[in-house]
Amino acid sequence: MALVIDETAQYLKKTPMSVLGSAVWGRIHAIGSTVPVSGIYRCEGCGDEITSNKGTEFPPQNKHQHPGSAANIGWRLIVQTQTKG
Ligand SMILES: [Zn+2]
Repeated sequence: MALVIDETAQYLKKTPMSVLGSAVWGRIHAIGSTVPVSGIYRCEGCGDEITSNKGTEFPPQNKHQHPGSAANIGWRLIVQTQTKG
């Protein structure tokens, strides 16, 4: 689980999921697919978290493995970062 401290919690803001946002927040993104927005993503299969930048690719299967498990790898956005430029 992503962590914050009291002093940094002020920089996180809960936002409603817009129609446009549902394509990002409401989807599970496949390995190797293109990252739609920069942020923190959580694997639905194992709970591992990664940071990924918009326009790059999610880790390929050989970079994120589930030892001895058949759980599917899929990345869900949990914190979107707001980057200028
Ligand atoms: Zn995983």
